[in-house]
Amino acid sequence: MQAGVKKLFVKSYGCQMNAYDAARMADVLAPEGYAETGVIEDADLIVLNTCHIREKAADKVFSELGKVRMLKEAREAAGLTTTIAVAGCVAQAEGAEILRKQRAVDLVVGPQSYHRLPEMLRQAALGPVIDTDFPVEDKFDHLAQPSEEKIRQRGVTAFLTVQEGCDKFCAFCVVPYTRGAETSRPAGKILAEAERLARAGVREITLLGQNVNGYHGEGEGGKDWSLADLLTRLSKVDGLARQRYMTSHPNDMSEDLIRAHAELPSLMPFLHLPVQSGSDRILDAMNRRHTAADYVRLVERIRRARPDIALSSDFIVGFPGETEADFVATLELAREITFGSTFFFKYSSRPGTPGADLEDQVAEEIKSERLGRLQEVVETQRRSFNSALVGRTIDVLFEKKGRYPGQIAGKSPYLQPVQVDGPETLIGQIAPVEIVECSSNSLFGRLAESFSQAQPTREAN
Ligand code: SAM
Ligand code: SF4
Repeated sequence: MQAGVKKLFVKSYGCQMNAYDAARMADVLAPEGYAETGVIEDADLIVLNTCHIREKAADKVFSELGKVRMLKEAREAAGLTTTIAVAGCVAQAEGAEILRKQRAVDLVVGPQSYHRLPEMLRQAALGPVIDTDFPVEDKFDHLAQPSEEKIRQRGVTAFLTVQEGCDKFCAFCVVPYTRGAETSRPAGKILAEAERLARAGVREITLLGQNVNGYHGEGEGGKDWSLADLLTRLSKVDGLARQRYMTSHPNDMSEDLIRAHAELPSLMPFLHLPVQSGSDRILDAMNRRHTAADYVRLVERIRRARPDIALSSDFIVGFPGETEADFVATLELAREITFGSTFFFKYSSRPGTPGADLEDQVAEEIKSERLGRLQEVVETQRRSFNSALVGRTIDVLFEKKGRYPGQIAGKSPYLQPVQVDGPETLIGQIAPVEIVECSSNSLFGRLAESFSQAQPTREAN
């Protein structure tokens, strides 16, 4: 180990935004002499970057902290110091409670304050520290940029946060409380970050936000830019071949954004557009502010603009008061839309949200039974979406080595993982692949003949 280099281990839970934050925490700690390690036992600083969306996620963090405490004690016995930090939304929501429940923790930092980590670490040497403020300064202005080498190590796809927080206050959700009010980053800063990523070999970016399609940041000439304006500008960045964005709220799918799906070749035909429920009564109780029919009409408009678009959704089963008839309406909506992929959750009551105070909570076994029925419907849809691609040739962006020697792995335009036999020199490139087989999660193919013939042989590489 290099003298003076300290080791950092970050474990991230939950959404893509947490994965992005984990990378940015590593960037802010790099100038402090911290290098990332994948081996927790070697780490001088362990950060658990937590998620508070579902009850089990917070429970997992406390059980993980128990293990980390033992590790800290074992390292202490060997004369090594370990600092334990809890970051992310559980840190924001639980604050001092974390220090009370687990005394081995040295610092607790909320998602809006992690640019202050270096200073907090200095204070933590003297005693436990908490920072769960919503600071007035913009954290993005205070974060160190990763080196080009670091970006290259992270691969050819990257996340880029453009919007944070949420003002929608869905009755089940903690995000407005843990991530704060909706804010959009200025387009110029996003553009600079995207150009930096592209210079270091990134070919695909996913713009992130809790409510990303509500983006309204300062654009060129001080104008208010929509997400469509931002995507249009980013589509001109040299080297960036693909763009995606998530997560979107149905009510913010504006006409210009739908048009962007028809007009921007770099905007991939995939859209994560959570509907949560197919029952108007439950959608109303959830404070989603649209009906099932509104969602169906919206999907029709999106599909008119981009007929091959793959749709994905989140569903919650067992929201308080959900009857069998409400749930059947959800099944019907799922059948009507046909999703390419779906995430489904059993409702879990989050303290402090309006849903937690509602009477008529649904029994766990009913939630499990409904989840199973919904799963059956959407799994069938996912399998048929995948098998419809067998025999077709699609473009794949290769990201990494495959599961087996001689294989490389990438993603289809519709975000499915694709495995092919091919040379590692194709990593970072987009190539046509003929799909020959599929499972429920992945596609398997071979490089299209026309492309293979145009390539030098593997030996010649
Ligand atoms: N902003 C996105 C939207 O409006 O759909 C969702 C963000 S949330 C981080 C991701 C998903 O977690 C939600 O779409 C919802 O399905 C699920 N979720 C949030 N709170 C939940 C809760 N209390 N119980 C179960 N699932 C929940
Ligand atoms: Fe949570 Fe999404 Fe609703 Fe905002 S729009 S409150 S992030 S579920």
